[in-house]
Amino acid sequence: MLKYNFSAGPCVLPQEVLKKAADAILNFNDLSILEISHRSKDFIAVMDKAQALALEHLGLTGKGYSALYLGGGASMQFLMVAYNLLEKKAAYLNTGTWSDKAIKEAKMFGEVNVVASSKDDNYNHIPKGYTVPDDVDYFHFQTNNTIFGTQLHETPDVNVPLVCDMSSDIMSRQRDFEKYDLIYAGAQKNMGPAGTTLVVVKDEILGKVSRQIPSMLNYKVHIEKESMFNTPPVFPIYATMLTLEWLKDNGGIDWIEKINDQKAEMVYSEIDRNPLFKGFVINKEDRSKMNATFSLHDESLAERFNAMVKEAGINGLNGHRSVGGYRASMYNALSVESVQTLVDTMKELERTA
Ligand code: PMP
Repeated sequence: MLKYNFSAGPCVLPQEVLKKAADAILNFNDLSILEISHRSKDFIAVMDKAQALALEHLGLTGKGYSALYLGGGASMQFLMVAYNLLEKKAAYLNTGTWSDKAIKEAKMFGEVNVVASSKDDNYNHIPKGYTVPDDVDYFHFQTNNTIFGTQLHETPDVNVPLVCDMSSDIMSRQRDFEKYDLIYAGAQKNMGPAGTTLVVVKDEILGKVSRQIPSMLNYKVHIEKESMFNTPPVFPIYATMLTLEWLKDNGGIDWIEKINDQKAEMVYSEIDRNPLFKGFVINKEDRSKMNATFSLHDESLAERFNAMVKEAGINGLNGHRSVGGYRASMYNALSVESVQTLVDTMKELERTA
């Protein structure tokens, strides 16, 4: 079994979570978690806990927010956001492929003002110095760009509702979450397996658009039905609940943020120090602490490096096809030891090249 999993998502999960999830498949209160009814009191307790933990980790308990676990992936949210919130005009920041896809969907529902974009530079930086007009229904952006390895470290200061795709850095660091009106994130990076998407929405922003919204795409319907309008993805939600419990038992976001800072520092120091490698992101302040993108100066070393990576037990280091090179995804469950192994392998290449 490959030991060090740098996959971009679905990705590494805590061993303890995998063990508990596996046990629950065989026995969850005398049945399998895969067999129980979503209407059973045992699963209702799981859903309640998963919702409560998400709000608690984000510091949003009792502050007028609802937490939902929906199907359809984060990609479904690209259109659900616009369906529910876009009456006339919305502003979007284009920082990567996923932003671009969100923009494409939103355009079907109204006017979209792309306030800034780094698309022409293959998204190698986060655009700055843009203004978000006050007359838009909301401003949408992504905190972390999984493919290109950029991250917004500050929350944009705007006077309109803030809608954010946090798929690849949710639960990895503190932010001023109360400034956000809607946050969504596919579970399959820092929260659990693929199959469910967390949506945290401030109740007061809903019900303002004039169009009719089909029930399955209507946040209000899902809130009224306590995230069980239809059969929810039972097992992914259970595994997500376990991961959120693991995070809480260890000290929450404050705890993991320190470890994530340490891992990012280890990788980026080596990228900067090692003469064989170069980083993809041009501004250091835009570098992602979740996905470090880099490549070799000399591509002829790739075969040797790839073999060394495999030999070291490292999985999932290949860069996305639109960037090339390598991508070290360092989600919450990735150990410091894994990062040390990668750094040692990079040093070893330098020593033997
Ligand atoms: N947003 C971001 C930032 C992502 O990284 C991804 C996929 N990894 C998505 C959206 C799309 O998520 P999904 O595949 O769950 O639809």
